[in-house]
Amino acid sequence: MGGLGFKDIQTFNVALLAKLPWRMLTNPDCLLSRVMLGKYCHKASLLNVQLVKGASHGWTSILAGRDLLKAHLGRAVGDGTEIKVWHESWISTSTSVLPHGPLKEGDRDMFVSDLITRGSCDWNKELINKILPEFIEEILKLKPSKMELKILTFAAVATQDLDNNNTTTLSTFNWYKSVWSVPTAPKIQLFIWKAINGALPTGENLQKRGMMQNTLCVHCGLTETTEHLLLHCSFAKQVWKQMPLASPMDPDDFPSVASAAAAATSWLCLPPSGISGDIFSWVVWHLWVTRNQLVFEARPASADSTALKALMSARECIQAHEPPIKFLKNTQIRGRPDSIPTGTVACNTDASWRKEASDAGLAWIFDSSTALTASNGCKFQSGVASTLMAEGLAVREALCHALHVGISKIWLRSDCLSLINAISLVTKPMDLYGVLSDIERLYVSFDFCYFSFVAREENGPADSLSKVYLYHSVTSWV
Ligand SMILES: [Zn+2]
Repeated sequence: MGGLGFKDIQTFNVALLAKLPWRMLTNPDCLLSRVMLGKYCHKASLLNVQLVKGASHGWTSILAGRDLLKAHLGRAVGDGTEIKVWHESWISTSTSVLPHGPLKEGDRDMFVSDLITRGSCDWNKELINKILPEFIEEILKLKPSKMELKILTFAAVATQDLDNNNTTTLSTFNWYKSVWSVPTAPKIQLFIWKAINGALPTGENLQKRGMMQNTLCVHCGLTETTEHLLLHCSFAKQVWKQMPLASPMDPDDFPSVASAAAAATSWLCLPPSGISGDIFSWVVWHLWVTRNQLVFEARPASADSTALKALMSARECIQAHEPPIKFLKNTQIRGRPDSIPTGTVACNTDASWRKEASDAGLAWIFDSSTALTASNGCKFQSGVASTLMAEGLAVREALCHALHVGISKIWLRSDCLSLINAISLVTKPMDLYGVLSDIERLYVSFDFCYFSFVAREENGPADSLSKVYLYHSVTSWV
């Protein structure tokens, strides 16, 4: 492609062709993808499928574009469960780097998630040192998704809890199918995710945190566990009984919310109900809403009205075909939100980063004027590649902590302008992919969540705290 503007037409054409497979990869639900993938990609994915004899001109062209694309594609590490260590470019976020051998027979089909220590979101340094020593520095700087990993952790724990005769052991539990792709509101997906992870502030969980008052089930007075509240309580059973399911379900068949969620993907509602989509998510959600109204506002609701609300929301959801909530529609780079709901907790975050050692101190401080038990937090983090990454990690920790202590409305302020900008981008920067995806998921679980920029001078306490933690290398929620 010369300086005079003459283009190498052949190259230019292939570049244009590459746009089609790119679209099919990034938007597998569009018509083009569905037709083409349905016809040609039964046995292999678009990236790996071979050109067959007699394929149409269109398909041949798409594959020509695909081959160009393939040479320049990389994977952003989310939780690493879908990326094969030796077959995909995932190590660098800027250039295409494929790991090369020597590789042992057993390692051939290893996934990136296998390089992460189970039960944490830290890389397994020993293992990486053993099989990919030349890339260890780059790899340690990638920060995998924490939420997906929590899911992995949970999968390991819960497998032991479930009965052997129960078909849903969590090693086979499909989070994507049973939670994230269920056609329901994003806040409800998050609610179910929390329920399965035992993270709802139920009586039992509050008791574990030392709160002893009113921890029994508001409906029947038994211990309020998540399973009790959503499945086994007599009140819940009455609600479930009214669901117009083609084959009735018995809540007692499900020892856990996870097993019910997995089974629910195949439940069908009888035609007159007008519900062709998911019903499970709406029932558990409204059980939770009814419980909260009773606990916090002393407003009782009958099982009938709870069931009715669940049915109506399920129907409305289908009719409205609601587009998913636009991520961070409230984000504004500077200044205050237009209106702040009462009970909003302000939170300042900051991070200090040491380039030489690639480590960082993260800090977040909740507004002390609120009566909530909110406290401050700080964390030492090693293997941090940039100051932007450090700031992102601080925001993620702050949001996790806020959810953990039951804050539902939060106004988060960072003095890192580029991070606040990155958060509002639809296309996330590759190096921050895992962290920003987590922030996005956390965002929808708040009733109100607002990010804004705060001048460094006004962020003094968080700044000092992060420095203290950087130099003392300890982690705690104080
Ligand atoms: Zn009960």
